Amino acid sequence: MNKLSKTNFQTKCVHSGIDEYEYGSVVPPIYQTSTFKFKSAQHGASLFAGEQKGYIYTRMLNPTIEAMENAIAELEGGHKALGCGSGMAAVHTIFAALTQAGDHVVCSAAVYGPTTTLLNTIMKKFGVETTFVNTANLDEVKKAIKPNTKVVYVETPGNPTLCISDLEEISKIAHQHNAKVVVDNTFMSPALQNPIAFGADIVMHSLTKFLNGHADVVGGIIVVKDELTYQHFRKTLNQLGGVIDPFNSFLVHRGLKTLAIRMERHCENAQKIAEWLEKHPLIESIRYPGLKSHPQFEIGQKQHKGSGGMITMELRGGIEAGRIMMNSVKLFQLAVSLGGVESLIQHPASMTHFSMGKEARLAGGITDGLVRISVGIENVYDLIADLEQALKKVEDAHLKEIDVHV
Ligand SMILES: *Cc1c(COP(=O)(O)O)cnc(C)c1O
Repeated sequence: MNKLSKTNFQTKCVHSGIDEYEYGSVVPPIYQTSTFKFKSAQHGASLFAGEQKGYIYTRMLNPTIEAMENAIAELEGGHKALGCGSGMAAVHTIFAALTQAGDHVVCSAAVYGPTTTLLNTIMKKFGVETTFVNTANLDEVKKAIKPNTKVVYVETPGNPTLCISDLEEISKIAHQHNAKVVVDNTFMSPALQNPIAFGADIVMHSLTKFLNGHADVVGGIIVVKDELTYQHFRKTLNQLGGVIDPFNSFLVHRGLKTLAIRMERHCENAQKIAEWLEKHPLIESIRYPGLKSHPQFEIGQKQHKGSGGMITMELRGGIEAGRIMMNSVKLFQLAVSLGGVESLIQHPASMTHFSMGKEARLAGGITDGLVRISVGIENVYDLIADLEQALKKVEDAHLKEIDVHV
């Protein structure tokens, strides 16, 4: 039935979600329209009644958005997908669809910051309670589940520690208690991890990151496994209104075509950089799923098709060392976000989380030396040379003024 069903992932990236178009267009046209004409009153009535398929209004469904959604559903091995205006719009839609007042959620402690905040503020305000646990520890997951637990929400590798949770085991535990397993697969992308294959019910991504891959779109996606769930989520998204627009969908769909090849390079580069950093005297510790020193290396090997482009490390020399490194890199750009073709670097203690103060930072697991890099697809030796000269500046400075013992 589906001409792609027997093809490999690289082929699916190029062809998924692509249909036959007017004028023989090879690329999905951008239907930059808010609304669609009915042929007659009867036609309008039958579309609204769901008796025949067609487009009504872009918040409800749009062909350009749908093409991108179908492509990602195919890549994740899901049934259908729902494009959202941002990753956070996707997260909100998921919790709005799956929970109600009196319900309970179990969530990874190492999770994207705004997801924690959403659960602790808005979802809490509407009567949904959350227990945050280290989902890399299965006993903690088992202990946290209550009779009213409806969702086990897992981000793996988790932010910012890159700890890896066993999706197959967590799915078994959650399903014994009739809870749905939702996985934030943003850090891996469907090229490197397919949570549905390990038993997850719902997969979400920030499209902003690896899926679009070019740092020029904000978007999110929810992938579901069956039609009933899809219909329920479509209604929820239509009511909340956090949809993506046709042009951004077009850009994401274009980005997908190079996903496989980009991810190969992200992994190759990150592995070399991680191995190089691990030996550097200014790096106290490093986390990368492709290093044997990673505490959940074995789970990663079972679950991942590659180790990804994200590295976190602990730099010696405190906040000032981090600041010098940030101000010395030339190719790595100082910016939040991740997953683009360009390498990015971030030092939460001196940048995004500076105003919190040290104590609050430490409570959130953000040490003064924590540096996160998103490795791009540039030449790896250029990237290593950039890190080398930046770390040299840290070393030179510490010899003069910083109290570090390398
Ligand atoms: C960026 C990100 C999100 C949120 O996505 P936005 O598109 O920024 O709303 C969610 N989860 C993870 C892991 C992310 O990196």
